[in-house]
Amino acid sequence: MHIDIITCLPKLLESPFADSILKRAIDKGIVELTVHDLRPFSTNKHHATDDYAFGGGAGMVMMIEPIDRCISSLKEHRQYDEIIYMSPDGELFTQSLANQLSLKKNLILLCGHYKGVDERVREHLVTREISIGDYVLSGGELAAAVLCDSIIRLIPGVLSDETSALTDSFQDGLVAPPVYTRPADYKGWKIPEVLLSGHGAKIEEWRHDMALERTKQRRPGLTP
Ligand code: SAH
Repeated sequence: MHIDIITCLPKLLESPFADSILKRAIDKGIVELTVHDLRPFSTNKHHATDDYAFGGGAGMVMMIEPIDRCISSLKEHRQYDEIIYMSPDGELFTQSLANQLSLKKNLILLCGHYKGVDERVREHLVTREISIGDYVLSGGELAAAVLCDSIIRLIPGVLSDETSALTDSFQDGLVAPPVYTRPADYKGWKIPEVLLSGHGAKIEEWRHDMALERTKQRRPGLTP
């Protein structure tokens, strides 16, 4: 998979990909991820990427020209499955959308900042808009990092145990059962006996029952 992220603040995207699972996916060559700074695409003499809003009001707006030039230059090298604008009023990001996107080959993620991007970017340049939740962030960078994290870990070969992603919450319409590790008794707080039984089928049954119970309690709207 190839992901190009477009931002006016590339530094914000340095650390999420510099460690752990995402770094390994990149090092193994399973994912190619490039962060593109918008500033060099500005024809403005100060390399500005934003300007005042027409009609007045507080907050700057990201200009269409640098974004258009950046997207056009990327399109010269590859065909994109989706050009996604991270936006608080976009389609809500879910595990099912993460599954769909993890099957794509080439993605562009466009991060807004300030008041957002000139509306004409949304009308003419992007193919999809995604929100990571009903709250407003200062910029799309953290949202893009969230999206990348959740889709990259689903690509075969990224997690050391591939079945791990399948037993995570939401994959089967259920939240995950509780997990425990050593010690089995900590300050008298004991783990469920069944986990020490060595009886694989019983353990699976217990996990499934716990997942059902938790889903009923915490996410009654989910359907297995
Ligand atoms: N004025 C806009 C908010 C702009 S926030 C509004 O009221 O809708 C600045 C940028 O942060 C946005 O352009 C978007 O790229 C990003 N952003 C903010 N909240 C987000 C969210 N919940 N999901 C995805 N991106 C978000």
